[in-house]
Amino acid sequence: METKNINPFDNAMRQLQNAVETLRLKDSKTVRSKIKLLKEPQRIINVTLPVEMDNGEIRNFQGYRVQYNNCLGPYKGGIRFHPQVSLDEVKALSFWMTMKCAAAGLPLGGAKGGVVVDPKTLTEGELERLSRAYVRAIADSIGPDTDVPAPDVNTNGIIMGWMVDEYINVKCQMSRLHLPSARADGGQANVKSIPKSKISKKEKEYLSSTFTGKLLKDGGSEGREEATGRGGLFVLEAVLAKQKTENRSRKIEMTVAGRQIASHATTAFDVASQPRLTAAVQGFGNVGYNIAKFLHEHGFCVVAVSDSKGSVYVPDGMNPSLTLECKKKTGMLAGCYCSGSVCDVKKGRHITNDELLELPVDILVPSALENMITKDNAKNIKAKIILEMANGPTTPEADEILFKRGVTVIPDILSNSGGVIVSCFEWEQNKKGEHWTKEDVNKKLKKKIEEAVDAIWKISKELKTDLRTAAFVVALKKILKV
Ligand code: NAD
Repeated sequence: METKNINPFDNAMRQLQNAVETLRLKDSKTVRSKIKLLKEPQRIINVTLPVEMDNGEIRNFQGYRVQYNNCLGPYKGGIRFHPQVSLDEVKALSFWMTMKCAAAGLPLGGAKGGVVVDPKTLTEGELERLSRAYVRAIADSIGPDTDVPAPDVNTNGIIMGWMVDEYINVKCQMSRLHLPSARADGGQANVKSIPKSKISKKEKEYLSSTFTGKLLKDGGSEGREEATGRGGLFVLEAVLAKQKTENRSRKIEMTVAGRQIASHATTAFDVASQPRLTAAVQGFGNVGYNIAKFLHEHGFCVVAVSDSKGSVYVPDGMNPSLTLECKKKTGMLAGCYCSGSVCDVKKGRHITNDELLELPVDILVPSALENMITKDNAKNIKAKIILEMANGPTTPEADEILFKRGVTVIPDILSNSGGVIVSCFEWEQNKKGEHWTKEDVNKKLKKKIEEAVDAIWKISKELKTDLRTAAFVVALKKILKV
């Protein structure tokens, strides 16, 4: 499928426009100027990163940090390493972060970072030097109260560890520069950084709060690694419960009224009558694997998963943990048809990524990249619910087709908000010098998600609109204070 020409930022702005029109705002000057502000990022940082390769050559990489909007708090958003990273993609992702944090009621704004690189072509040493170079280039613009990055596609807790370490190095050097003795000898060449051992535990913890999604040993939060997936499960369960209640009351209403009542798109799927819901998950990285695992553990039947090289289809339902083990052992997902406690080539078959999206399942879970569901394949999607775990997987044209067909699209800014919610908890813990238990984190996450689903569902009913527009409206009301 050709998706290269679809501009994610244009899509994001169309989504914003839909929500602004749905909200029918009184056109005050302040509101107008705030909306205008939301149409462009507040700051774009464009950096060239010279990195020494293992063979001694210096290669330049292109990097970005887009600080979209901070009217609700410090900028917040992940860092993506991918060959297709572009300024428009980072702008779109930073805008979605702004809306996501607002819809989840977090005291944070939105940002995103990206480096144009295929990390699979780098050695571990090269990847570390690139990660450190990126932080050095943006260090002046980030900080616990300014901008707080996190992992995204192809970055993880290990990379966050290198980044935090580099950030602390830079901060130590900067502090030394302010000492009179350092200033007296006139140049950076003679300046030695403050040894890290001289920083107090408290200071280190505070500086560490500049990054979230860290490993536990580096000050990460319990539950952060799987938070996006866990949050996705909480969102899905909350939405299914709403649909169930609505279908029940619709049936009563139908009996009372004695006639067929036109079904709204979000209630077209009668969850109550389904025995074991089936799901297909596109993407098998942090988000895809974890949502597949949680769905499996909570009684859903996951029949297919994919990665960038292809998909596996196991019609009787797969075991995601065993599938991951198999992928690690064999180096590829293809051939890992794992169900129950065994992997057996007879249990499944290889399908293409396009076929995965069109499987006859109840729930489709895009968990890879943007623009996967477009006007070209939306009409072929058979799922009744799309749980958008990736950012921006559905184009506005596809959204319209799906809505008319009665497919419930649970939007990315709600479905995958578990990641940033627990990142916010991590930031809070680091700043306060606390460490919460996993139970505490998961309990707080569930509460936040249920509150967000309640608010978005209510608005979708009030304004008779789809869940994406409703989620944007909830976010806009917080940002515009209307
Ligand atoms: P990841 O790098 O861990 O995994 C990405 C996965 O997608 C890999 O399995 C990759 O092989 C697969 N993939 C790439 N192109 C594909 C294609 N064309 N078809 C099928 N699979 C493909 O990244 P991640 O952290 O899991 O992020 C996935 C998505 O979730 C992104 O959109 C990201 O922005 C979003 N997200 C991530 C987090 C987080 O906490 N990591 C939070 C919120 C949203």
